[in-house]
Amino acid sequence: MGFWEQMLLGFFHFRRISPQPAQLKLYTSSPLRSHWLGGSKKGASSLSLLAIHKGITVLFTGNSPSTLTMIVDTHVHIWDEKYCSREMLDAIFAHRATLPTDSTAQRRLMPIPMEAWLEDLRGALDKAIVIGIDITRVFGTRIPDQFLLEFIKMDPDLLLAYTGVEPLDENNNFKEEVLDEVEKSVNEYGFKGVKLMPVHGNYYANNKKLYPLYEKCLDLRIPILFHLAGSSFPKAMLKYADPIVLDEVAVDFPELRMGLAHFGYPWAETCCVLLQRNRNLFVDISEVLYRPRWVASGLQLAKEYGVLDRIFFATDGPGVCRPVEKYVEWCRTGLNELCKNSGLPTFTQGEIDGLLGDNAVKFLGL
Ligand SMILES: [Zn+2]
Repeated sequence: MGFWEQMLLGFFHFRRISPQPAQLKLYTSSPLRSHWLGGSKKGASSLSLLAIHKGITVLFTGNSPSTLTMIVDTHVHIWDEKYCSREMLDAIFAHRATLPTDSTAQRRLMPIPMEAWLEDLRGALDKAIVIGIDITRVFGTRIPDQFLLEFIKMDPDLLLAYTGVEPLDENNNFKEEVLDEVEKSVNEYGFKGVKLMPVHGNYYANNKKLYPLYEKCLDLRIPILFHLAGSSFPKAMLKYADPIVLDEVAVDFPELRMGLAHFGYPWAETCCVLLQRNRNLFVDISEVLYRPRWVASGLQLAKEYGVLDRIFFATDGPGVCRPVEKYVEWCRTGLNELCKNSGLPTFTQGEIDGLLGDNAVKFLGL
């Protein structure tokens, strides 16, 4: 390795970049070449311009350097309509018809084939968490763990999974078998968390009957993600959606990591207060990214409340917010452009890096 290559390696090391040997060759082979460099595998969050001219390396450092270690989408799905009831399909398609999704997504749960979805994720992310669904009680739908498992096996470096469970039966009794199901998903399948959908199951997240499940998650050291946010499904009652109920659970289980999906819409400020009071809570911004002004104002609130370091990037794709790269790019540049144009304070490079992945990496231990 030549002198300049060693110098470059030193620079990469300083910036926490791990270039492949082929990349290093590219950087040093041209007599005059400029490159944008970034800290993540997917490149270029905040950037320096590197020019190599006749063996002389010149660095032009722009904004504060990015320390982004990974880009993580903490909330995506895979679907097969054979696992879903007609009622749920109709409810989802009616909802999507009101959203800026493509027309295929308004008729099909998987608007693109599985392989194309995987390519979309691979092109934009370092990690993606595939979220399971269980809304058997009201909507007769459950996505089986085996189906998630087959998908994550297609790219184990990229894909992680949370099992979806519903802890109460039709008579509002706790389903003991849920404890074994969760344990199996973690110990046998390597799943990393649990998803509950109280609003679609018509139960309160702070129902004490659920506490054995929370204790199990604590024992297994896994987080629980809650759909405590609005829903347009006809039988999903909004009284079960308000994230305020999680305050009691967070106080009773201060060590249990719990997430609020979809920024708890429309209760973004409630989410911020909850996160301020409870260090064990986090938020994902899945689905609502198609409303950029609302998300930007929510992020401004999170900054004011001092909880921005527990807000995670997420899309809820593939039915909405696809391609993922477009929404990653919005976080990188579009967010601050929107803030500037609206006369709002902008976010620092570190805050954007946190949102795109570093917060999830730290909090979830990815
Ligand atoms: Zn979702």
